[in-house]
Amino acid sequence: MVKYTGKGVYGAVAIGKISVFKKQDFSVKRVHITDTEAEINRVKTAKKAAEEQLHALYEKALREVGETNARIFDIHIMMLDDEDYNESVENIIESQQVNAEYAVAVTADNFAEMFSSMDDAYMQERAADIRDISNRLIANLAGVVSSEISSEDKMIVCADDLAPSETVSLDKDKVLAFVTANGSSNSHTAILARNMNIPAVIGVGGEFLSVVKDGDEAAVDGFTGEVFLNPDEKTKTALEAKRKADEDKKRLLQELKGKENITLDGTRINVFANIGSVDNIGAVLMNDAGGIGLFRSEFLYLENSDYPTEEQQFNAYKRVLESMSGKKVIIRTLDIGADKQVDYFGLKKEENPALGYRAIRICLTRPEIFRTQLRALYRASVYGDLGIMFPMITAVNEVEQILALCGEVKNELKGQGIAYSDSVELGIMIETPAAAIISDKLAPMVDFFSVGTNDLIQYTLACDRQNPDIEDFCDTHHEAVLRLIQTSADNAHKNGAWIGICGELAADTSLTETFLRMGIDELSVSPAYVLKVREAVRRTDLSSRHSCRK
Ligand code: PEP
Ligand code: MG
Repeated sequence: MVKYTGKGVYGAVAIGKISVFKKQDFSVKRVHITDTEAEINRVKTAKKAAEEQLHALYEKALREVGETNARIFDIHIMMLDDEDYNESVENIIESQQVNAEYAVAVTADNFAEMFSSMDDAYMQERAADIRDISNRLIANLAGVVSSEISSEDKMIVCADDLAPSETVSLDKDKVLAFVTANGSSNSHTAILARNMNIPAVIGVGGEFLSVVKDGDEAAVDGFTGEVFLNPDEKTKTALEAKRKADEDKKRLLQELKGKENITLDGTRINVFANIGSVDNIGAVLMNDAGGIGLFRSEFLYLENSDYPTEEQQFNAYKRVLESMSGKKVIIRTLDIGADKQVDYFGLKKEENPALGYRAIRICLTRPEIFRTQLRALYRASVYGDLGIMFPMITAVNEVEQILALCGEVKNELKGQGIAYSDSVELGIMIETPAAAIISDKLAPMVDFFSVGTNDLIQYTLACDRQNPDIEDFCDTHHEAVLRLIQTSADNAHKNGAWIGICGELAADTSLTETFLRMGIDELSVSPAYVLKVREAVRRTDLSSRHSCRK
């Protein structure tokens, strides 16, 4: 038995036979041709066939992994249609009098190199997509249908790396696990594997691939990132037990899909999901979340090398709202500073950044940034049920300034004849003790509170959330924290506002009953925890003791 370690990108266990995924041979020869027009027509026919295959892949991915993940094939269709790409292919055929396969291969090399040399990580990853679409074109020119990659019995697919189209093309019911020698955890392939619920370990290294053969046995632990090649009986028994326990747990949870979040005594609450990117929506839908309780909008700023424009933001918010088809989506305005640094903001180095110039403090002192985001949010509001919430609130005057700015932005839009929804709920995060203590003053000003326990705990217990050395002093169930949440819940309800929790503590099911007794109306957790929380809600009985709910 030999153990290899990579990065687990989907937590599950599989034991079975290996199938080494063989890429099709796309090596092409340079052939001199005389009829360039016929060669260009061959490219057009191959392109048409490739487009049809990509449409079919899009539909398959849509059914299996949701719209967000299927979009990669939309992007491939767009890339196939790219004017520069097609001009390059035709120019090479005409100027060099060469075959179409060769012209596509040269264009692929040039474009992939151009993408790889870009600074932006997202653009660098597009190099793999250019190769993917070019290989598809070449396969079609050669008369090989590349979208039908079939597999034998259920197997562990091992590869150097898998292109998104290869991952989706594999018959999901026949794949036990993915193991790749290379690949990054943010690649589309990793995202797809995660959303297909297939155990996956990436980056185990090239040596693994030089050793494995078809038919070898392996045990894959997607939780730890370990891959055991030809595992001994003891390892197999231990992993088999882990696999069974995990499957039993997941099966039980799956039965909760479509069911209500209702306690034994009939109290209903919302179980929503937290996301950091538009790409997470597939997981939100797969786990049957009732809405999005926290969209950390700062990802748009963190991913960019300059301030995202109003249009860029509008498109991202619109996509989230449309994908959620009328379910509530709460987008939190920019929360940078502290651990989330963005170079182009030019923030000064601070002695205590968690207590420094961050979140709403940046927005209120640099209103041009805030206005752009608010305009994008209000413009997107007509595409669904939007809530906007504001982070790191400590004082009434901050909320006054926010509300005034929202009013100004709405007036401006109205003046320009731009539509926005009148029913956008506005809320604030309760993540400082100050906000919780004055929640009686804040509640009448807003529609809802959302408790950010990650920060509320750090500020209440004076425990830096970034410092692993003080974890023992950071009692997440500390009475002071729970009392602040209770105070906030009471004040919210007294003033007709609702209250949710979106920090990590919302997923701590040992506290679900406590939160429900406090009167918490919504728990927003990572998509993978939605069903676990639903299960905890459904086994809670609030009738046995006095309930605090209003
Ligand atoms: C929180 O503080 O609990 C929260 C949800 O916000 P973040 O983790 O993004 O600071
Ligand atoms: Mg926070």
